[in-house]
Amino acid sequence: MTAGGGGSRKTHPPELRHDPLSGRWVLIAPDRARRPNDYRNGRPAWAAGPRASCPFCPGREAETPAEVDALRGQTSVPDSPGWRIRVVPNKYPALVPGPGPSPGRHEVVIDSPDHEREWADLPDDHLRDLLETFRRRLRVLENDPAVRYVQIFKNKGASAGASLRHPHTQILAVPEGPRQIRDEMENLERTAAAEGEGCPVCRLIEREAAGPRLIQLNPDFAALAPYASRFPYEIHVWPRRHAASFRETGEAELLILARMLKDLLGRLRAAAGDPDYHLLLRQGPSAGSGAESRAGRRGFIHWRLEILPILAAVAGFEWGTGCFINPVLPESAAAALRG
Ligand SMILES: [Zn+2]
Ligand SMILES: [Zn+2]
Repeated sequence: MTAGGGGSRKTHPPELRHDPLSGRWVLIAPDRARRPNDYRNGRPAWAAGPRASCPFCPGREAETPAEVDALRGQTSVPDSPGWRIRVVPNKYPALVPGPGPSPGRHEVVIDSPDHEREWADLPDDHLRDLLETFRRRLRVLENDPAVRYVQIFKNKGASAGASLRHPHTQILAVPEGPRQIRDEMENLERTAAAEGEGCPVCRLIEREAAGPRLIQLNPDFAALAPYASRFPYEIHVWPRRHAASFRETGEAELLILARMLKDLLGRLRAAAGDPDYHLLLRQGPSAGSGAESRAGRRGFIHWRLEILPILAAVAGFEWGTGCFINPVLPESAAAALRG
């Protein structure tokens, strides 16, 4: 029992935690007045969104730029109905291809023909096909010598920044390697040099898989609540076999990963009330991209998927200091997600 009215609930003093990958500090400050599952999405579900004017629904293929990739029935023709997954250039790209100072590509993957079906509700094999589509686009985009990094990300829900209700994923191919990835590679390189045992992440995953932040484990992947989680219910999914890029994921692993993601998103929905989230891929710079990869430094990054639920506001302190305040203990989040 402690002062502050926490009842018989165990309290946890605020704790600064250091993330060894990013070098970032996080203040874990559990709110004693609330239980982990009090961090639930309190907003009403996103209004259905105007299906009648949705450019991603079947029948409106002419309203997007011409598709660059699609999974469709053998009898259907490009840019017409009959597809299961469709990839189109973004109509309002943040980046455009070309010889100018800012070459790049911005593509949108329309996850399914269904206007409302989220990843948690897709059949396993459809989600697998979606992951395979990402892998295929990665291989295409990374072959462009001007591309240094490919960012695949999903903004689920209006508070995550999605401007269209119809579930979709974005792919940005950029001409510069992101600073965060460079920092992570340098941190890992330093750790590897100090410990002299290859990829430090491989060891971190196995260590964490035996501890209280494990959410789910199979022979190929581990889902963990990061020690220095920035957000309530933050989830990282790691391949247990070392790989720098998602493009190295094998056929059988795609289905295993699809099943795991679907299960995790279902658990997140149950534990936290169907929150909006960002889902993003972090990986090494593209294989053909210059001195960094040729020097073998790709060995010092280990790809992962991050699920970042939007349940607590990012406020002035975070913007000012770069230090996030997380009101839910990662160990409690992992326990809630394990069920
Ligand atoms: Zn739609
Ligand atoms: Zn590794």
